[in-house]
Amino acid sequence: MPPSATATESVPNGTHAEVDGDNAEQHAGIAAALSNGSLPPLFDHPIDDYRPLKIVCIGGGISGILAAIRFPQRLKNIELVIYEKNAEVGGTWFENRYPGVRCDIPSASYQYTFESNTQWSEYYASGPEIQRYLLKVADKYGVRKYMRFRHQFKGAAWDAARGKWDFTIEDLDSGNTFADSADIYISATGILNTWQWPKIDGFWDYKGKVVHSANWDQSVTWDDKDVAVIGAGTLLSAFLPAGLAALCSAEGDDAVRHLATHLLRKLLTS
Ligand SMILES: Cc1cc2nc3c(=O)[nH]c(=O)nc-3n(C[C@H](O)[C@H](O)[C@H](O)COP(=O)(O)OP(=O)(O)OC[C@H]3O[C@@H](n4cnc5c(N)ncnc54)[C@H](O)[C@@H]3O)c2cc1C
Repeated sequence: MPPSATATESVPNGTHAEVDGDNAEQHAGIAAALSNGSLPPLFDHPIDDYRPLKIVCIGGGISGILAAIRFPQRLKNIELVIYEKNAEVGGTWFENRYPGVRCDIPSASYQYTFESNTQWSEYYASGPEIQRYLLKVADKYGVRKYMRFRHQFKGAAWDAARGKWDFTIEDLDSGNTFADSADIYISATGILNTWQWPKIDGFWDYKGKVVHSANWDQSVTWDDKDVAVIGAGTLLSAFLPAGLAALCSAEGDDAVRHLATHLLRKLLTS
């Protein structure tokens, strides 16, 4: 049925109502029925007349890239917008640049099933190699046309009457905040994207250089330094050997004067 047409709506309690075919009003009818505890009304329409759907996805990492590939391939009549706070796709692999960053499951398993890379240079590929793979996939499928880079999601609220999500988005370049709305909201922001400094008394009294693995300062050198590492996650096994290897090759083993690993759990429980 054309969107502007008037239809007879079958209401499950046995009554019938004339309803306008407008999408917003149909949604209002559905919301009203649901709030009454009734089943949503049925609408007549041709089987190939796909309802227009707007999808807003937040995040352009591995998940967001996949959304930009699969949704347009598999869903009809959609408008897809992906808001990404960074200037490029990749998420984890765009942001994490500490020495030795790499995956900790075999690379043959850490890739899209439909874009199999048989040429990984290492069993556990480095972060830059994974990022190059993601950029190649992004280029091949033209995902950037759906992306709004340097746009940060600030919040979302569901409007039941309209059947829409309302978003608040900040354009990080202009500083302007604006609203958008969609039928479907996909959060692909990653569970590890919001990094934090450890909460340790006196932490900020330390006068030396403090760096976080998730926001690595590329200018940091390890030579002639006492280095303390807080935390012992999987990345420890990557950047510690990488840092030491760089140090040893530059200065010789003697350059390692002191290396202390403070296990965060131990600190918090002592
Ligand atoms: C160092 C490291 C190594 C890892 N190794 C492995 C591994 O070996 N195997 C494995 O399975 N997993 C690993 N992971 C987990 C990894 O995060 C996931 O595998 C995967 O990359 C997550 O992809 P994603 O797209 O869901 O999220 P992310 O890659 O985190 O991407 C989220 C995106 O959302 C964006 N975003 C977040 N908040 C907002 C906002 N408010 N507004 C706009 N954009 C926003 C971010 O900028 C980012 O681009 C590792 C993680 C790290 C940090």
